[in-house]
Amino acid sequence: MMDAIQSEISRDRRAFIKKVLGGTIAGSLLLVIPAGAMDVPEQIPGMREQEGPFIKGKKFVFIVDITRCIGCGSCCVADKNEYQVPDGNYRTWVERYVIDDHDNVYVDSPNGGLDGYQKPRTDIPHPVRDTFFVPKLCNMCEKPSCVQVCPVGATYQTKDGFVLIDQKRCVACSYCVQACPYSVRFINPKTKTADKCTWCYHRVRKGLLPACVNVCPVQARKFGDVNDRNSEVYKILHQPHVVSVLKPGMGNKPSLHYVGLRREVV
Ligand code: SF4
Ligand code: SF4
Repeated sequence: MMDAIQSEISRDRRAFIKKVLGGTIAGSLLLVIPAGAMDVPEQIPGMREQEGPFIKGKKFVFIVDITRCIGCGSCCVADKNEYQVPDGNYRTWVERYVIDDHDNVYVDSPNGGLDGYQKPRTDIPHPVRDTFFVPKLCNMCEKPSCVQVCPVGATYQTKDGFVLIDQKRCVACSYCVQACPYSVRFINPKTKTADKCTWCYHRVRKGLLPACVNVCPVQARKFGDVNDRNSEVYKILHQPHVVSVLKPGMGNKPSLHYVGLRREVV
């Protein structure tokens, strides 16, 4: 079963990245793909399909490496395809930060970064000294304020640490949308319920990486079990001084970490 899933996903992934690079899916045509980047394993090491109600013995974390992201938007396209996200709504998006030589900071995210950032900004009056890209998604907080405010228990935290939404219970009051300090929630105009990134819980339960991680051509998105000392995420998180979280003062304890997070990022 797992072999069949793996070979199907490998085929899909190769075809997807080929389309992005060929320009038939929106994305930067100026990509420089490091050697071996497309050989990322699509399975989560040590994970098999889970049959119980939750995944036991693992603590999943997501890591975004800002120093690697090239703003191609492949992750956003993969997410939109995986969930049929209605136009104008984003479960994950990529922001572009541009800093000029007067230290002014300009941030934009046209169409959530879905089309890639193929053209530089032309509306900045001073010479640009730096540009970088920051993917955003649910921080899968250990202390999620969205769960605390939901009046009907539709937003909940699983025993394996995922924050999910029970669409049958959601009454679309938007309390969670307002309570999320990271602005990752929206009311889905199709389902008329709250929606957000789930870190692809349905894929993870099968031992597969989240869709966005799977397609990133430069491995800027990483996902894994931090209880596994051999995992890449364990090794990254145990290096000194290289990772941080967004808005640590909010007390939400995000499970999403950033490598190379800059002080300009909010
Ligand atoms: S980032 Fe927002 S939606 Fe996600 S768990 Fe935290 S508070 Fe909830
Ligand atoms: S995270 Fe990866 S796939 Fe997404 S924009 Fe950055 S480089 Fe592209």
